[in-house]
Amino acid sequence: MEVKAQEKKKTGMYENVMNQFNHAADLMNLDKGIRKILSSTNSEIVVHFPVKMDDGSIETFTGYRVQHNNALGPYKGGLRYHPTVDIDAARALAIWMTWKTALAGLPFGGAKGGIEIDPKKYSMNELERISRRFTFALGDNIGPDLDIPAPDVNTNAQIMAWISDTFASQKSPSNRFNNLHVVTGKPMGSGGLEGRDRATGFGVVATIKSWAKVRGVDLKGMKYIVQGYGNVGYWTAHFLNQLGAIMVAAQDASATLYNEKGIDVEALYQHSLGYKNQIEGFDGAEVIDSEKFFGLDCDIIVPAALGNQITKDNAHDIKAKLIAEGANGPTDTDAEAILLERGVDVIPDILCNSGGVIGSYYEWLQNKRSEIWKLDQVLDMIHDKVSIAFDKVVETSKEYDTHWRNGAYLVALKRLEQTYKERGVFP
Ligand code: GLU
Repeated sequence: MEVKAQEKKKTGMYENVMNQFNHAADLMNLDKGIRKILSSTNSEIVVHFPVKMDDGSIETFTGYRVQHNNALGPYKGGLRYHPTVDIDAARALAIWMTWKTALAGLPFGGAKGGIEIDPKKYSMNELERISRRFTFALGDNIGPDLDIPAPDVNTNAQIMAWISDTFASQKSPSNRFNNLHVVTGKPMGSGGLEGRDRATGFGVVATIKSWAKVRGVDLKGMKYIVQGYGNVGYWTAHFLNQLGAIMVAAQDASATLYNEKGIDVEALYQHSLGYKNQIEGFDGAEVIDSEKFFGLDCDIIVPAALGNQITKDNAHDIKAKLIAEGANGPTDTDAEAILLERGVDVIPDILCNSGGVIGSYYEWLQNKRSEIWKLDQVLDMIHDKVSIAFDKVVETSKEYDTHWRNGAYLVALKRLEQTYKERGVFP
């Protein structure tokens, strides 16, 4: 169905992605017909499904899978478990995936989905039943050559193992192993790829390294702050610390922590693992007011949580030189204009966090070929793809005299335009 901008907007992410798309499409004078195609999602699946709770009661849940575009290959993108998941968020995130896979040069399209749920309120057993029942409800709308989900906010390798097992169990026994790669981001014992866990954070740092090279600065001793200390936030901090940068603040839904001398990245992660994946209660930093976070004195900000966090309300306070978008859609259009005017660099999400889906591509390929690859080999391949995409974005931005987000969109949209032009539109 045609995507209508006036529909319910809880997160505002849909508005954001369409603003970005329209800017870039104008700039390159994107073919009218192709613009129409890319302005709509191909299909939108909404499922309501019941699950038995530990106390024997029944709850119903709503799950989504939006498939935006598959011109370049099977739909690809994560599943998010969060109260803000709705059709608008799923659409926006699916559209970003189409640009992200196209920019990275992967043979994938874009999709996204998830469940409107606060997973903290449920036991592990309940989450298993919810994930399996959601998979069952999606049925053959997903598949290893059709649409391949992956982890996103509040989903992880364990959840991917349940989804893969549930999906493959419904196939004939002889076909089971051809179906386990219906998802990527699986655990190591279930066809997972060594390095997929750290792929997004590793890719974020690869782009920050490219930025430092372009700007001629040294990352050693630079101060950075991270919003969201889950998979992306933690691994980004882990790899930035290896380069001698110092994390002075971290923020999640539970707390905002600050220590001007530096926060112990590994100790904070260990603490969060034992504390419902939250940073609250860590004793190696002081707790500060959450409103002060983006205005803290630092060189690099890594938003690695939810969308629309940097807005016109806080963009003026930012002192950092660089925003590295580990999250999807963390900067809205108004904020971006303010940042550009103030000379703050932004590495756009579809480039900055693309290491995750690039890792997913290698996991999928490894499964298809029944191979097992080594960590160093995987990280090298991710590094290559991310760095090549970064250089292309910088080059295209120069060519069009525009900022990096437009540059990233132009690379992605040109690839999609070429495909449509070559193949035409059936019939
Ligand atoms: N959820 C991640 C993203 O937003 C990874 C998607 C994938 O690996 O398919 O890029």
